[in-house]
Amino acid sequence: MLKYRAIARSHGLHHHGLARRFPLRGTRQLQTATVTDGDIARLAAKPLHPLTLVDLCKHGRPPLSKQALFNSANFTLEILPSRLAHRIQSLRALPYIVVANPHVSKIHDNYVHSMSTLLPYAERKIETLQEEIAFTEAMADLVQTHANTIAVLARGFLEARKYISKDEITKFLDEHLRARIGTRLIAEQHLALHFSSKPHNDFSDGDDPEQFRQIQNSSYIGVIDTALKPADVIRSCEHTVGEICELKYGVRPTVQIIGSPDTTIAHIPMHLEYIMTELLKNSFRATIEAGMEREPIEITIAPAPASDEPQSQTKSSKSNKFDGTVSNVSQGNVDHASGANKPVRSVSENIRAIGEQTRGVTIRIRDRGGGISPENYAKLWEYGFTTFNEDEIMDKVTGGHSSGGSGLDALSSGAVGGSSLAGLGYGLPLGRAYAEYFGGGIAVQSLWGWGTDVYVTLRGVGKIS
Ligand code: ADP
Ligand code: MG
Repeated sequence: MLKYRAIARSHGLHHHGLARRFPLRGTRQLQTATVTDGDIARLAAKPLHPLTLVDLCKHGRPPLSKQALFNSANFTLEILPSRLAHRIQSLRALPYIVVANPHVSKIHDNYVHSMSTLLPYAERKIETLQEEIAFTEAMADLVQTHANTIAVLARGFLEARKYISKDEITKFLDEHLRARIGTRLIAEQHLALHFSSKPHNDFSDGDDPEQFRQIQNSSYIGVIDTALKPADVIRSCEHTVGEICELKYGVRPTVQIIGSPDTTIAHIPMHLEYIMTELLKNSFRATIEAGMEREPIEITIAPAPASDEPQSQTKSSKSNKFDGTVSNVSQGNVDHASGANKPVRSVSENIRAIGEQTRGVTIRIRDRGGGISPENYAKLWEYGFTTFNEDEIMDKVTGGHSSGGSGLDALSSGAVGGSSLAGLGYGLPLGRAYAEYFGGGIAVQSLWGWGTDVYVTLRGVGKIS
């Protein structure tokens, strides 16, 4: 139960009161089926569905009716198994000695496990609430299973780098991590729609009009916030990263937000959070190492104009196999059956509502942390490139009187769990993958000896690959 509440919270569902009589039971045993090589070959042979924003919003605005919720579950079920099968195949296509690495093979096993929880539903449609609940539990399990796997993957490829070229690693990880973003998004969208749906909120009792109103008037459509304010996300990330600094090093750099802090965009809050946390960690660390924590990190928010152009693929995202755009609108399932007093928006209205928000935002993060040497600048976008050294930073903040730090490297101190400031060397390349997912990007400008400017551009959600 707690587990699911935590998942719901991480999806912005704290913005509207959660189901009081919550139906998911965390203790329930998931139904699984044995995954054969034949299953994987068959599912991987299915063409990958070109997923669009429209797909994620086509079931209507929350709260979804029972039928719309089933449609969401069946749609999710239609596209996830082949995506998982593609991941399994591309892991198996790595040199054997790489797949045999315990960490890489752990990732492989995670995918096979998730596949085994989907197969029991694969050949049929979800038509009852019990099935929908069981399926949603499988989705929650999928999200959990792959939640903290970046450090595992990083360790695996660090250990295996003797056996595989840098280019092959980059190619694999770029494709794998971008696909992972999409797969998680699809599962998380169904989870979020489930939690805010009518069948799972007891609106039928008519005893909680306030909760109904909150869900209906929320700016969220599942995990998409159509009125996301980057300034709010930045403040919350500043707090998180500031805590790490304070706890570990006893200093806390500050952030000054200027420009147009009121700007809003339609985007996935979780994605912007990931990007800003990684960029702030980098700037905070550089600032501390340079002894410049009295100089605030200056963040400028500037709205970027709307664009009707289909969002072009950037160079490094060419591994994406999908290219759906908002213009490929297919008529989805509109929730006409709703008894709500407010008219339910049609599919095209939903799209228009998002369309108004396809304008983007540019965020510039400017620190006085000394910049990046030309030699390091060339390696910034390599997965695993890092100059982090726990002992060095400890020496800086204690004036050389530290005991030499803990001696732990970032991998064992949980760099991804949020307790470390750096160390995996995935912050920039993975942050860029998130930004590019909807046609944005990240650019780094270094003034060596002085500081660094990082430009993050986000296009309002327009395409999902
Ligand atoms: P990590 O932070 O784990 O080292 P990243 O991908 O986030 O991995 O960054 C890679 C490297 O780029 C860092 O180790 C650091 O050397 C350099 N770097 C990134 N951002 C900055 C910055 N704002 N100032 C100075 N160096 C930076
Ligand atoms: Mg970093």
